Amino acid sequence: TVGCVALDTHGNLAAGTSTGGLSMKRFGRVGDSPIIGAGTYADNETCAISGTGVGELFIRNAVCYDVIARMRYGGAALAEAVAVQINERLPKETAGLIAVNGAGELVAEFNTAAMPRGFANSTGRFDVAIEPEPTPPAQ
Ligand code: ASP
Repeated sequence: TVGCVALDTHGNLAAGTSTGGLSMKRFGRVGDSPIIGAGTYADNETCAISGTGVGELFIRNAVCYDVIARMRYGGAALAEAVAVQINERLPKETAGLIAVNGAGELVAEFNTAAMPRGFANSTGRFDVAIEPEPTPPAQ
């Protein structure tokens, strides 16, 4: 999956998500990426969010809309709402989320071994993070 979230200079938030789906998927399977609320969502009052991982879980849990709802109705901050999904709701090794809110706060959380991601701002500066740091070899 390739996901993108953006905040423009007018305060508009947008999200996009593209995927080839899971490997060995059944013919005709529709993943979460094109389903608004599952793998993608954006709303100017809360955040823009895009997910990657096991699409069936994202659909079943309406993951991206759940983050929005935690913010809108529960008063959660962006990082807190994302953390609930990544650390509490979705099983380990199944998911990653990127999101940005109207204040320009960026969140990228995952419960898998890694999730490569990059950030660009209005100056055009582009940074890439591939974390966590590799685990040092056992002594
Ligand atoms: N979420 C995608 C799907 O289930 C797969 C992925 O994130 O790579 O179709």
